[in-house]
Amino acid sequence: GMRVDRSLSDLQPIMSPRSREYEWEDDIGYFIKKKLSVWCRLSSGSWVLGRIQSTSGDKVLLLLSDGRVIKALKGDLFPANPDILDGSDDLMQLNFLNEPSVFHNLQHRYSKDLIYCKAGPLLISVNPLKDLQIYENDIVTAYRLKLLDIPHVYATVNTAHSEMMKDGLNQSIILSGESGAGKTEVAKHAIEYLTSLTGGDTGLQRKINHSSCILEAFGNAQTSMNDNASRYGKLTELHFTSTGKICCSRVQTFFLEKSRVVQQANGERSFHIFYQLCAGATQSLKARLSLNAASFYKYLNKSDSVRIPGAEDERRFHTLVEALEIVGICKEDQESVFSLVAAVLWLGNITFTEGNNGQVEVVADDAISTVSRLLECSTHDLIAALSTPNIQADSESKLTVEQALASRDALASYIYVSLFEWLVEEINRSFEAGKGHTGSTISVLDIFGFETYSKNSFEQLCINYANERLQQHYNRHLLKLLQEEFEMEGIDFNKVHFQDNQDCLNLFEKNPRGLFSLLDEESNSAKASDMTFSNNLKQHLSGNSCYRSEQGGNFSVRHYAGEVTYNKDGFLTKNRDSLHRKSIQLLASCSCHLPQLFASKLLQQYDSSRKFDCLNQNVGTQFKGQIFKLIQQLESSAPHFILCIRPNSKQLPDVFEKEFASRQLRCHGILEVVRMHRCGYPTRMTHQEFVSRFGILLGDIDNVSQDPLSKASAILQQHRIPPTSYQVGYTRLFFRTGQVDQLELIKNKA
Ligand code: ATP
Ligand code: MG
Repeated sequence: GMRVDRSLSDLQPIMSPRSREYEWEDDIGYFIKKKLSVWCRLSSGSWVLGRIQSTSGDKVLLLLSDGRVIKALKGDLFPANPDILDGSDDLMQLNFLNEPSVFHNLQHRYSKDLIYCKAGPLLISVNPLKDLQIYENDIVTAYRLKLLDIPHVYATVNTAHSEMMKDGLNQSIILSGESGAGKTEVAKHAIEYLTSLTGGDTGLQRKINHSSCILEAFGNAQTSMNDNASRYGKLTELHFTSTGKICCSRVQTFFLEKSRVVQQANGERSFHIFYQLCAGATQSLKARLSLNAASFYKYLNKSDSVRIPGAEDERRFHTLVEALEIVGICKEDQESVFSLVAAVLWLGNITFTEGNNGQVEVVADDAISTVSRLLECSTHDLIAALSTPNIQADSESKLTVEQALASRDALASYIYVSLFEWLVEEINRSFEAGKGHTGSTISVLDIFGFETYSKNSFEQLCINYANERLQQHYNRHLLKLLQEEFEMEGIDFNKVHFQDNQDCLNLFEKNPRGLFSLLDEESNSAKASDMTFSNNLKQHLSGNSCYRSEQGGNFSVRHYAGEVTYNKDGFLTKNRDSLHRKSIQLLASCSCHLPQLFASKLLQQYDSSRKFDCLNQNVGTQFKGQIFKLIQQLESSAPHFILCIRPNSKQLPDVFEKEFASRQLRCHGILEVVRMHRCGYPTRMTHQEFVSRFGILLGDIDNVSQDPLSKASAILQQHRIPPTSYQVGYTRLFFRTGQVDQLELIKNKA
């Protein structure tokens, strides 16, 4: 029997006007008339599929598949696609484009372990969070031979590679998506496939694939969003010979989250390498480094999370050593690397006491002697560097305990970051042999994803800023350029509205009154504090609609992926990132060659800036500069975007949450991208190009004037090409998919 389960009052429209389908008004009337399937949004936020029974005014009765009948408002209905389209390979194939249909399509595929789906030129990947057998050798072979064309990262790589071979243009593969969405995994598969695709030097392939394992050990960490979160950005540039064989690889890295070395949020870990070394070092290495269990070290044991699954760290350490070997880092250097990692840990265990005049005394214990042994410096120099200020050496004055702790932590994180950068340089050096005789490049960009925690600081601000910039690159290439081209060519199309994030970027970048320059201004002033910084922001940024000042001097930024509240504390210190000259001099005095190397870079900076005690790094502005350079580099290549989606917040397999995923699809403008490309004409050529290619099809030319436009139009008319399948622009012709193939066929028959 018929039951009416819901009162109309629970069925409020929840969709925001922006996500409302523009064709909706027209389509739904037809759907109602024909009593076709529709999606209906419930007040709980979920969608149900039903068939319209009857209508009155703006209300309808819906029959659900389980036999229930519910009342709904027309405004909550969206046309559903015929069953035959369930799980389409490309969202462009959907007859009706709306949020529930897109989600349903992805979910249908996900439930069959089809994690990839196209959205026009874009590849969407939904993190399976379980091992799928879709990267096996036979699959690699099938894609290499182009026997399979189901959406897959391999297919995207094929496209990039063949475009590079065809046009000689550099290509880029750009991974987007929030933390935990699967960017790093997909990027690894892309690189592995690229190296195997082109055959050639297997030693080189091995090296490329193992170098990512090294950077992962030193640059990734467990966070509350991802057990293997990237804490840096990485651009891997693969160089090819003119015959398309891989010959060299170069890695650029951005912004390692150095504060993690000395402190982590609850439930998070420091970088993997620390735990791997403690768990996996051989007995003799442990003895040489005086290593204890990870839980012994204060830099690791304050957050309550010392390990992910048990034996993993130990096993990973062996893989790491193998990778160092393969990349060609010699035993001696390996030993120095591990000594420095251990030295960082031991630095954290150095303690200070307060002397009678409030000045600091270093406790001369195991920690001090071990650090000086590992760094190969004198204990006396180490104690002096940690406890005396930067005034001339004979001064008697000392730091306070708090200052000493800060300078110790700065030293530890400086050593670690320098070590990371050194590893990157070594990896690049190991590929230098292949440089020189190159054709073009394919770059793979994998950065830390957008993130928001209960407490967000300077690091999140930088990470989210980088994502904001990348999002603009994405919008520009998937939406804006196409729209501008249509406008310029005078082509008819339905204008697609999309969220432009320029306002948010202005908030960060404007000079002199953007967030980064205000931060520098405050950082350079001795009297400034986190509070004066925050007031300064409020004074100058309140006009920007993406900025909001919050209680306690904190502030919020409305990002493309949602609003994030940043805690002002520590912004100035982190932006200054100053290391005492004393500490640098200490490193320079070490017999171990790595610390010497690390010191020399900064000593040069000191000398050129003529500052004696402290250098202000202006980390935010430096980072902004790096990101600008990165975008410039990307702009000179043909982009291929892969959007990674996190299916649920708990990192569980087989759980695809509607609202959780739809939010990500919304902020990456999936509907807009599909709409834009659906109204689009993927094949385009200038009038002249068209005439050169198809001029032979021009029959009776007596009445046709000789300019390319007239000739082209005549060809199209003479062969009765339907006017809906092409458009004539001011300088170019635009064709729907398949139309040019049709003309080729006619040409071959002619
Ligand atoms: P972040 O921005 O934090 O670095 P990310 O987007 O790089 O996040 P990944 O580290 O690639 O995310 O993925 C998170 C986890 O999800 C991985 O550690 C892995 O367990 C799982 N995962 C991701 N992609 C896949 C895949 N294609 N197959 C199986 N598991 C995957
Ligand atoms: Mg990652």
